Amino acid sequence: MTHYFGSCLCGNAKFEVQGNCDGFYLCHCKYCQKDTGSAHAANLLSKSATLTWLAGSDSVTTFTLAGTRHKKSFCKVCGSALPSTHDTGLLVIPAGCLDTEVSISPTAHIFTSSKAVWDEGLGDVPEFEGLPE
Ligand SMILES: [Zn+2]
Ligand SMILES: [Zn+2]
Repeated sequence: MTHYFGSCLCGNAKFEVQGNCDGFYLCHCKYCQKDTGSAHAANLLSKSATLTWLAGSDSVTTFTLAGTRHKKSFCKVCGSALPSTHDTGLLVIPAGCLDTEVSISPTAHIFTSSKAVWDEGLGDVPEFEGLPE
């Protein structure tokens, strides 16, 4: 059993998710790259968990890419990714919007056939705990 809390960057939208997570995928598809502006999305998936908006549900909007199943919910004020429920009943929760520490590790990288060309050997890139001097 899991119980997660989350919110967007501006703090308007707050939610809780209760239930079991069925998978945690790092999706490298072209849609997720555009949608996140990064190398991949990081989404927790659940077929049975319930999503409850605790605040700001009116500032949440959803975009579905025409002709695809790619769907994204986000805050109208700050643009942060938020959980969305798909037509199939699947709940998709972007890991980064959670305030509760995520206790599970990613299940798999998916759609790596469209991986960004710069997304290779990232473990070898220098790291700084904050902004470099
Ligand atoms: Zn917001
Ligand atoms: Zn994707």
